[in-house]
Amino acid sequence: MTESRCNKCGALAGPLEWRCGSCGGSLDLVNLPAFDASSIKTGDFSLWRYRAMLPLECRFSLGEGMTPLVPAELDGARFHAKLEYLNPTGSFKDRGTATVLNHLAAYGVGDAIDNSSGNAGASLAAYAGIAGMSATVFVPAATAVESKKKLIRSFGGAIIESHDYLADVYAAAEETTYASHAWSPYFVLGQQTAAWETWEQLGRRAPDAVATPVGHGGLFLGFYRGFKTLHDAGLIDRLPRMIAVQSAGVDPIARGWETGSETPPAIKPAPSVADGILVDMPVRGQQILRALYDTDGFALRVSNADIEAAQQQMQRRGFMIEATSAVTAAALERIRQRIGEDAELVIALTGNGLKSLAPSSASA
Ligand SMILES: [Zn+2]
Repeated sequence: MTESRCNKCGALAGPLEWRCGSCGGSLDLVNLPAFDASSIKTGDFSLWRYRAMLPLECRFSLGEGMTPLVPAELDGARFHAKLEYLNPTGSFKDRGTATVLNHLAAYGVGDAIDNSSGNAGASLAAYAGIAGMSATVFVPAATAVESKKKLIRSFGGAIIESHDYLADVYAAAEETTYASHAWSPYFVLGQQTAAWETWEQLGRRAPDAVATPVGHGGLFLGFYRGFKTLHDAGLIDRLPRMIAVQSAGVDPIARGWETGSETPPAIKPAPSVADGILVDMPVRGQQILRALYDTDGFALRVSNADIEAAQQQMQRRGFMIEATSAVTAAALERIRQRIGEDAELVIALTGNGLKSLAPSSASA
């Protein structure tokens, strides 16, 4: 049976606990079903085609997952783009939110909270809506983007603006269920389906390398663990090199990798246009670094100017992505230098740029 276990001290945790009650460490799922290719429901064009590999009942879905994988080229550099921004609420978060909330719904949870700069909050609000739950999202008063706050409200979510939103959400988590995209092991589980889809879309092969933006690293670890599951099942013979891309202002993983450290260093965040990955202390930072070392991967940082230029270039190429999602494109030339011209590269395009094109308003 699948259970939650602390990845620091090994203690078992209850199904609704969001961190280890003994040491405060983050939780992982153990005894997950093995990947069985013959049990993919090929007639289901959402991530629930993998329901045999998910220890969950699907009570509700917005059709998340099965995003396109598109061959593309930028300045002569070829790649496959995994269009995660085409998920129901416009970001990759929907995979993990769907699995987290289906898990919580099985335990009768009626109210859920999270902290978010925008995308995770919008996703929580939308899925709470179909789950019949209330959603409250703590957003950073200083940096939350108006259009994303509007989106959260449009989906029926409540917003609490806070100057210390982490402290406030941790306090609120004493009373209400914390459906955290950073902490919940069911969130990373949902992200694993992106790897399984990519494997199917490439003709049941793994690419040579996968690059994602990294804040808390949910999608990054989902790809890594998803491919690891396929490797454990004997369906691929090696793991793709994992590539973490961060904004130059907020780059604890890049700094940790550069020094060969096991733990990301404490940093002083600088302003960044990549509002979706402004995470100075990623909850699973050690696991992200281990995934880099385990796959001969690497971490890069890109400047605000390069992110903005890459976003414009990608949008003109037809990819309507937000600034955060452009960090991998901004790093493309340096990625190619490291992996070679012929290596098969997948980059995840994580968030929809239409959200930041929407006209802003003071309140909704
Ligand atoms: Zn522990």
